[in-house]
Amino acid sequence: MMIPYGRQNISEADIQAVVDVLRSDYLTQGPAVPDFEKAVAEYCGASHAVAVNSATSALHIACLALGVGKGDVVWTSPVTFVASANCALYCGAEVDFVDIDPRTCNLSVDRLQEKLAQAEVSGHLPKAVIPVHLCGQPCDMAAIHALSLRYGFKIIEDASHAIGGKYRNEPIGNCRYSNITVFSFHPVKIITTGEGGMALTNDAALARKMQLLRSHGITREEGEMTHAPDGPWYYQQVALGFNCRMTDLQAALGLSQLSRLDEFVARRHVLAGRYDKLLSGLAVVIPWQIPDSYSGMHLYVLRLRLKEMSKTHREVFEALRAAAIGVNLHYIPVYQQPYYAQMGFKAGLCPEAEQYYAEAISLPMYSSLTEAQQDRVVTTLEQVIRK
Ligand SMILES: *Cc1c(COP(=O)(O)O)cnc(C)c1O
Repeated sequence: MMIPYGRQNISEADIQAVVDVLRSDYLTQGPAVPDFEKAVAEYCGASHAVAVNSATSALHIACLALGVGKGDVVWTSPVTFVASANCALYCGAEVDFVDIDPRTCNLSVDRLQEKLAQAEVSGHLPKAVIPVHLCGQPCDMAAIHALSLRYGFKIIEDASHAIGGKYRNEPIGNCRYSNITVFSFHPVKIITTGEGGMALTNDAALARKMQLLRSHGITREEGEMTHAPDGPWYYQQVALGFNCRMTDLQAALGLSQLSRLDEFVARRHVLAGRYDKLLSGLAVVIPWQIPDSYSGMHLYVLRLRLKEMSKTHREVFEALRAAAIGVNLHYIPVYQQPYYAQMGFKAGLCPEAEQYYAEAISLPMYSSLTEAQQDRVVTTLEQVIRK
């Protein structure tokens, strides 16, 4: 049986929570969505949370709420899922990439600072920067926030990997150093709603904009209308929104999952610690954790020291897959995707990201991974590298 790189952890209580909604009056737009939003906001210490049908939608409406549009440019890391960059294109803006720090594999603050200084001279400062907490490890948010004050850009944290993690002893998602933080609840992520995402913020006006955008731009609040309601049926569309609502079925699952979030992340840390130890004699670089943070530990990515082995990156990868170890690669640098290449992005733009892509392998990492399975992963990797 293939050991996947990630998978959901579903309990009987999770199943019961969904069944309860199925037997209730509302499958969508009922009480479960606001309950889930309130619980995540409280968990993270943010004032507002807006649940949606994916992190991709959350990134999209976050950009729109911050006013990202035509003529703007948004910067993100090249080592991320394509959605972190696509959200800016949806808004008619341009995208550019800031190379990674080779130790954390997150967007490099030094490269960001250099690029900002150049952009200030050429008059192309970004409207927003989207730092991605790769693998669940937070970016250096205090430093990025300080730069945002100097250069006047907005910050959306793509924390799709990072719910349950901490930065400087505070929960990721509290938006202390950002305008908006986004989570994903896809089944491979730390907690799941099937598909789903959420945008958190401490800014009531931004939260309200995102609420409108997730549901057609329609309001039933008289204070937001251009004139008094025609009658009790009345609503107004005041913006061009979408339907990216989360259902109550999903929210009930999410709320039930949230009660085990700390347990899930703690278990991931136990597994990561075991990997660190078991891999110590191999020609690999194990993940480096910045001090002052607690990773959500969505992924365990190691880098092969290829000069010290006869196998290529691809050969190691293929041998592991052939042995039913579902390794993966997070991620192909976004600008090397054909869609981005045809926009003019060239190889060599972010050398550290390209080097990372040539060496990285994500090992299986999920809360229900057993130690026996983990031992099989390590033993197989050892055999593959040594052979
Ligand atoms: C998974 C992921 C997304 C997209 O999440 P969806 O909920 O699947 O839309 C965005 N950014 C990152 C970094 C991700 O890992």
